Amino acid sequence: MADVTTKVLIIGAGPAGYTAAIYAARANLKPVLVTGIQPGGQLTTTTDVENFPGFGVAVQGPELMEQMRQQAEHVGTSIVYDTITRVTLSQHPIVAHGDSGDVYLGDTLIIATGAQAKWLGSPGEAEYSGYGISACAVCDGFFYRGKEVVVIGGGNTAVEEALYLTNHASKVTLIHRRGCLRAEPILQDRLFAHPKIEVIWNAEVVAFLGENQPSPRLTGVRLHDRTTGSEHSITADGAFVAIGHDPATALFRGQLDMTDGGYIKIAPWSTATSLNNVWSAGDVSDDRYKQAVVAAGMGCMAALEAEKFLAERGSSFATKPTAKVMEPAK
Ligand code: NDP
Repeated sequence: MADVTTKVLIIGAGPAGYTAAIYAARANLKPVLVTGIQPGGQLTTTTDVENFPGFGVAVQGPELMEQMRQQAEHVGTSIVYDTITRVTLSQHPIVAHGDSGDVYLGDTLIIATGAQAKWLGSPGEAEYSGYGISACAVCDGFFYRGKEVVVIGGGNTAVEEALYLTNHASKVTLIHRRGCLRAEPILQDRLFAHPKIEVIWNAEVVAFLGENQPSPRLTGVRLHDRTTGSEHSITADGAFVAIGHDPATALFRGQLDMTDGGYIKIAPWSTATSLNNVWSAGDVSDDRYKQAVVAAGMGCMAALEAEKFLAERGSSFATKPTAKVMEPAK
């Protein structure tokens, strides 16, 4: 067991955390980044990434994250493979306890713990994830040009994803477990008016169907009609699960202001949280875009804001609440 002291403690090793680390290290702040249990974050479970700028041909998600890790380390970040299990934010320095028994003391903290898409857990979902099943239309819709896809869910995300997918797919079927959507009326109007979109109501996906030769590939979904109790299958080249996200904020509950959806609140055009020496970047605060490049941009903002804060105060300051942070802009 050891105490690790740093001016900038970063929790999370996705695009937000690594970018914050790169900027903080290049500002000579010697950041310590604690990775968590899934170093690299959500991109480590993705294959082709075509929308992160800087790559002439698609980069593989794990390779992109490995490059970010190396870059952060190369410019002077201490990367620690540990998982934070408890934090105390109300005192300075901030105290974070690692699963290893080590204790991390930070003058400032950048939270970049990310979010996880919710999955249905139906048979075949894990098997064909990345081989036709996705949780991000903006990331993967491009691969379904001229193909038939389904979207599962009835909230804003599902409807926006269905509408987005009409740019690529020949047909989009929205599958919802109830007889009405919870998405905003304006989005519903656009959905119902779209000639490429069909809605299947009161249906649950009980299985994802596919084949494994010559390579794994989704071929359809099996539906349970909740009104009649019957089952039938429909063909699909792609399935987009859009039933919400879980931001990884359990550690900070009760210590920082959060939205109703459990995301850490930040001030507009800033990553400032409700405490003066804590910033929050990436999907843990972003319920809108959920993109790696946005997370990276927010990581940069967080590091620049922490740097400015430390430059103005040195290491002698008290942790205190900021002016009330506002909901992220919609
Ligand atoms: P929501 O929680 O709003 O909706 C989730 C949807 O998935 C619901 O329709 C729900 O069904 C369905 N669902 C949940 N679990 C299951 C399951 N196990 N099986 C089948 N269906 C399931 O999540 P969203 O991601 O859509 O939105 C999250 C938040 O982000 C919301 O506040 C939303 O308004 C906001 N948002 C805003 C946007 C914007 O302003 N442009 C864009 C996207 C999101 P049921 O309705 O039956 O509960």
